[in-house]
Amino acid sequence: MAKLYFNYSAMSAGKTIDVITTAYKYNSKGMKALVMKPSIDTKGAKSVVSRIGLEREVDILLKPEESLFDYIKKYGEITCLIVDEAQFLTEKQVCELFVIAKKLDIPIICFGLKGDFQSNLFQGSEALFRFADTVEEMVSICSCGKKARFNARKVNGEYVFEGKQVEIGADDSYDPLCGKCYLEKVLLPYSVDFQKIYKKVRGLN
Ligand SMILES: [Zn+2]
Repeated sequence: MAKLYFNYSAMSAGKTIDVITTAYKYNSKGMKALVMKPSIDTKGAKSVVSRIGLEREVDILLKPEESLFDYIKKYGEITCLIVDEAQFLTEKQVCELFVIAKKLDIPIICFGLKGDFQSNLFQGSEALFRFADTVEEMVSICSCGKKARFNARKVNGEYVFEGKQVEIGADDSYDPLCGKCYLEKVLLPYSVDFQKIYKKVRGLN
């Protein structure tokens, strides 16, 4: 029986590169591997675009209110479904992926971020942690050289901790950070809760 996979990471782990190369491996052997992404991500519109310049048009651009079942019917026999930016799926869409893997026997490989810039889980990621058969962390690297586990949002070059979960298209950027750097660069300067906790920790010294 086919599996539902979730490969997650912080930013800049090469997820989109893996999406494109995985699809290529199937497609180059004449198999039908579809690439899908949720339409909330407007980066590259109908394409998935990696930071190193690889690009591929998506087969399915799924809107939040859409059902995946209609697309699956339209495409007929599918070898594999590959999902980029899976954190933006709704919980219902992840449930559909699970049913498609189990009942239609189509392997589904999802790539996505684990948490947002405040380190809350995205809706799609939370559902994938619950339903995926296999969950694997992909490595991205903090500027200090350690493994990055957090995504920090920057606006005009400054870290921020307030704001909406998704501000795609806004003039912002993201840094993958390790826990220590996330604490020092984002939480302690910008989170009142963490400032209070830090004061108590200093009292322990
Ligand atoms: Zn670091």
